[in-house]
Amino acid sequence: MTQNHDESTSFQLYDHALELLVGGVNSSVRADPQPTPVFVDHGEGADIVDADGNQYCDYIMGYGPLLLGHDLPDSVRESISEAVADGPMYGIPTDVEVKLAEFVIDHVDSVERLRFVNSGTEATAAAIRLARGYTGRDKIIIMQGGYHGGHESVLVEGSLDKRGPSSLGVPETFAEETIPVPFNDGEALKEVFERYGQDIAAVVTEPLLGNCGIVLPIEGYHETIRELCDEYGSLFILDEVITGFRIGGLQCAQGKYDIEPDLTTFAKIIGGGFPVGAIGGRAELMQEFTPTGDVFESGTFNGHPVTMAAGLETLQFAKEHDVYSHVDNLGDQLRSGLVDIVEDYAPEYTVVGTDSMFKLLFTREAPETFDGHCRAGCVQDPDCPRFDLCPKTGADVEAGETDRWKRTFWPAMAERGVLLTPNQLESQFVSYAHTEADIERTLDSYQDVLSMRQ
Ligand SMILES: *Cc1c(COP(=O)(O)O)cnc(C)c1O
Repeated sequence: MTQNHDESTSFQLYDHALELLVGGVNSSVRADPQPTPVFVDHGEGADIVDADGNQYCDYIMGYGPLLLGHDLPDSVRESISEAVADGPMYGIPTDVEVKLAEFVIDHVDSVERLRFVNSGTEATAAAIRLARGYTGRDKIIIMQGGYHGGHESVLVEGSLDKRGPSSLGVPETFAEETIPVPFNDGEALKEVFERYGQDIAAVVTEPLLGNCGIVLPIEGYHETIRELCDEYGSLFILDEVITGFRIGGLQCAQGKYDIEPDLTTFAKIIGGGFPVGAIGGRAELMQEFTPTGDVFESGTFNGHPVTMAAGLETLQFAKEHDVYSHVDNLGDQLRSGLVDIVEDYAPEYTVVGTDSMFKLLFTREAPETFDGHCRAGCVQDPDCPRFDLCPKTGADVEAGETDRWKRTFWPAMAERGVLLTPNQLESQFVSYAHTEADIERTLDSYQDVLSMRQ
């Protein structure tokens, strides 16, 4: 970027957008980039090219949906084109929604029935309504630093004893029914069940925190959730919106970590880049949704044929090619390369992630030594000398140098042609389109920028 920023096309487009769209954007996080967001012209493999012709290696990947990168394989492209040519949608069943359901049910152990919706937000809202309808209870437990989209039941922050809405416009009464607990803390969860057990409809959690840095589950945490839910007759809702068909490959994170949820929510990857969400679970539970049961769920665009075609062909492609081994290997190379770099230049920082998710967290404290440290990202190993200092909850991540990350580190990486998610909390993704050369160049940029810190 050699030109003056304020003469750039992106700057002018953003300036105009500020007069027409709230904050110039349609999703808040897109306004984060400093000094202004770039506008995309088009995608090219693992790269995006902005309106000024600058090319960046993209690790945002749509915030998760783009498993294959920006160029769709022919089979996916053809299937989408055919669906579009047939007519955009009908509000009448099509075969392709049945086929995508069959694919998901064949690969994800806990899922016997599905309902497709249009976003992760819709999926978690419907799953929580189902749990409330099924149990006849109102309270839910969520994780501090977890994310389940933008609806009233999950826009609550705080703790058991002091909690409130996390957004203006959410009535206090929702905060009475939603109890946030620290992730990875079995004792805190037990305490809530001891106090409110008979009122708890569900525990809602991601398999790993994927929207607040990346925090992996400590050994046994999900088993504790399962046991407490069984003991108190509550449902376990696993939010696999970001991890589904990314972590653990086709079996999803629940397969990788041996988690046994009652209900699972999906979105992102299963729509192949189009708006999607889904709720899945045991048939006996799922049939409580209308029309078979009395928990209302409906949607004009549910099971949209273009989305279903894109999702089905994307997952088929992933099944028939080395997609997961490719992205997971590159993820390992990135994370281990980053560990080597922080060892030299920023030993207090923590490399996190697994499979094709990664992030470098600007944590503030470090032990003297890297001996015994996880070599490809923190896996929450209790025997590691850094275990006590590695972030375990959303609060731990937020206590990092978030401003430095956003205001100086991110722009310096963008300047070098590496596009990271524009704050410390959002995960980054490797796609099937990334290459080893991309990873090497990216690591060089990290080293370059981190070696300049004072
Ligand atoms: C992205 C995300 C959501 C929200 O999905 P939208 O499609 O943006 O509504 C919910 N839960 C998790 C875990 C997510 O990562």
